[in-house]
Amino acid sequence: MTIAEYLIITAGLVSTFLVGKHVFRRKKHKRLLSMPFPEQWEKIVQKNVPLYNRLPAPLKEQLHGLVQIFVKEKKFEGCGGLKITDEIKVTIAAQACILLLNRKTACFRKLRTILVYPHTYIARTKSSNGMITIDGHSVRLGESWQNGPVVLAWDSVTGGTSNVTDARNVVLHEFAHQLDQEDGAADGAPVLEHRSSYITWARVLSMEYETLQKRKSGRTVMNKYGATNPAEFFAVATETFFEKSRQMKKNHPELYDELKNYYKLDPVEWI
Ligand SMILES: [Zn+2]
Repeated sequence: MTIAEYLIITAGLVSTFLVGKHVFRRKKHKRLLSMPFPEQWEKIVQKNVPLYNRLPAPLKEQLHGLVQIFVKEKKFEGCGGLKITDEIKVTIAAQACILLLNRKTACFRKLRTILVYPHTYIARTKSSNGMITIDGHSVRLGESWQNGPVVLAWDSVTGGTSNVTDARNVVLHEFAHQLDQEDGAADGAPVLEHRSSYITWARVLSMEYETLQKRKSGRTVMNKYGATNPAEFFAVATETFFEKSRQMKKNHPELYDELKNYYKLDPVEWI
């Protein structure tokens, strides 16, 4: 066999394998989407996810299927002695999957594992001033790694979901980072459906980001943490879009429209 023949056969086998894998996954998803949503899970989301209670019935149906896929495909690991329960899995999955409703997208393509701590946790940090590297510690509610896990503190998850109007929701925040990171860069620009959309997206989000950075005092609709960098701006804007949708639409109509087009949802209508 010549090298060329060998390469052609290998390429053929690889593409057959990939097509087969894709078909298998689609079939598996179709089956999971049509499975009845367990009664116990319904009780969990009603109790722990106030946003769920606002959703119109067709979106609730869609969410049920997405939660089934998420729980089946993602691995949950308890840290710091936390035992993973259905309540933890379903509460996190339901909020994360709200970001996927109405969109033709994979279920957080790069994410395999969600690590859950019982409480707000301490993470080791490293910083450098160019001359020396400084080891430190920082208190975290959650974090999202580009090619790694999402890490969450369960007390922050339950604290964040109990109030649906404070625009603080660590699950929406960290999973918005996951969407942002899907194209390989955490830069506040997730993968948009049309190439032409990037121009308006960049104009509106950078204008709003700079405005938030310039605000020195007074109350803002968006949490000031959004002024940290463009990636944090997108994550905070996502929290605000779902939890303070009316205020965002009134005070930042262009930003609201960009997120409405991206998420293909209009949360103002659910209030
Ligand atoms: Zn963040």
